[in-house]
Amino acid sequence: MDIDMDTQKLVEVTILRNAIDYNGSAKFDTVISKILGAKPEIKNNLKDVMPKIKEIMEQINSLPIERQRELLLQKCPTYLETKKAVEKNEFHLPPLLNAKHGKVVTRFPPEPNGYPHIGHAKAAVIDEEYAKMYAGKLILRFDDTNPLNEKLEYYDAIMEGLSWLNIVPDIIKNTSDDIHLLHFYGKKLINKGNAYICLCDQNTIHHLRSKGLPCQCRIDSDKVLENSDKIFNGYYHQNEAIIRFKGNMNSDNTAMRDPTLFRIIENTHPLLGDKIILWPTYDFAAPIEDSLDGVTHAFRTKEYELRNELYQQILKNLEMRIPEVLEFSRLEFEGLPVSKRKLKPLIEEKKVEGWSDPRLPTLMGMKRRGFTPEAIRRFVLSLGITLSETKPSIGVLEAFNRKIIDSISKRLLFVNDPVKITIKNVKQKEVVFKNHPSIEMGSRKIYVNNVVFISSQDAEKLKNGMEIRLIELYNIKVSYIDIEKKEGIVEYRDNILKENIPKIQWVSEEDLVKYMILKPTKLFIGDRFNHNSLEVIEGFAESFVTTLSTNTMVQFIRLGFCRIEDNKSAIFTHK
Ligand SMILES: [Zn+2]
Repeated sequence: MDIDMDTQKLVEVTILRNAIDYNGSAKFDTVISKILGAKPEIKNNLKDVMPKIKEIMEQINSLPIERQRELLLQKCPTYLETKKAVEKNEFHLPPLLNAKHGKVVTRFPPEPNGYPHIGHAKAAVIDEEYAKMYAGKLILRFDDTNPLNEKLEYYDAIMEGLSWLNIVPDIIKNTSDDIHLLHFYGKKLINKGNAYICLCDQNTIHHLRSKGLPCQCRIDSDKVLENSDKIFNGYYHQNEAIIRFKGNMNSDNTAMRDPTLFRIIENTHPLLGDKIILWPTYDFAAPIEDSLDGVTHAFRTKEYELRNELYQQILKNLEMRIPEVLEFSRLEFEGLPVSKRKLKPLIEEKKVEGWSDPRLPTLMGMKRRGFTPEAIRRFVLSLGITLSETKPSIGVLEAFNRKIIDSISKRLLFVNDPVKITIKNVKQKEVVFKNHPSIEMGSRKIYVNNVVFISSQDAEKLKNGMEIRLIELYNIKVSYIDIEKKEGIVEYRDNILKENIPKIQWVSEEDLVKYMILKPTKLFIGDRFNHNSLEVIEGFAESFVTTLSTNTMVQFIRLGFCRIEDNKSAIFTHK
């Protein structure tokens, strides 16, 4: 007998994995128990499937292990990566340099300029884990010194995201709270001759910077001191003057070629209103704030690497304490960019539903999709603080999530694109379904009269005269089937468990609701938005689904895990 494609793939992948674990030779008993664990319904026709499994196994065992690895990667590209991550069940970040128990202070410094995403989750989890590891403190500091981009809504969204991730900062503050201190240190730097007011236009600045030459403002900076008072007193308007660091215009590190420390922005700040117009850049605010806040270990993503020299030089010039600066790679998934430049247009053009669209890598989107905060934490820790720029596949996160939700998800029936099946010679019946195959989660009753619906994919395989089992119900024989009309007639046979007949899912006419599953797929293909990134699967589900509250996780048998959205729809999480 032939086995269906799904089963075939499961069998092949299971054997390949086992073969690789056992030096190229899969073990029959282990393979069988793994296959049955993954797909218990195979038990019903094991006698038929067994020879086929043996055949596939002999074929695979005869291959060299290198070839087995290649085949596994072809069939299941994320497998090896996933396995390493999930099996490494201890998640220890490497120890920190110069860290004393009880004295470590880390900080998570998001700019409130958008909704938090998986990249923020990585930074926040690492900052929090290190604070915990050394019984230290975590500071949440909103780096809000650019009123062009910042909104109250985003401060709230970040707080909400962190609370969902179960991250509780010891101190919450805003960089803007310290604006007068930042001005004070700015003046101090100018008075020490380490910074100056530049009145050049942007083109000139850009041009001289690329040539490695100083502008006249820098050359005259020791003579022209009154500009300093003017800029702090609000004499200049936006784009008329900036404060620049006196670095080295010849430096190979372009970040040291007199970078901007303060600029004038005449927009209303979400917390300070219109009182302040001279705003520090991140380059200036970050080292000062870290130093003042007592941060011992400051983590930054790798794109700031070139700016570390500036960070240290500013603090050195001001004779302030210098924290340890550490880097990690930023996190985003293949095909799922986190940059606002890419995501904002999708929202503005209404290509997605909003920041909580389940296709997005925002924390709100991931929550709505059915990812758990614990899975995100384990996933982040499994990546560690590596600097590698490779984008992990979302399959790895899914594997962590599956481990967590498998034991809390009720199993339900759903048929996609339903075909109506009338059963002759049958009495009404009541079937009891267990909510979970191996964990005690109660059960439910389903009434069946003489009509059930099956999915058209299953119906397509039926032929007149064929005997099949409606799972957990009874055996029937097909007398007529018409896929076009989406109908069929069958006859009741008996209720004897037979191993050699196909088993299919059904939903009773007495007990169904119209139901929709939204399935997110890749948001971008290459650089382009994928217009088919949200697949809509329509069909019938058991009415039991309407008793489940929003956010409940379920597994629709054969389809996958889903998060209940409301009593008409669910969102597909993953297989
Ligand atoms: Zn200048």
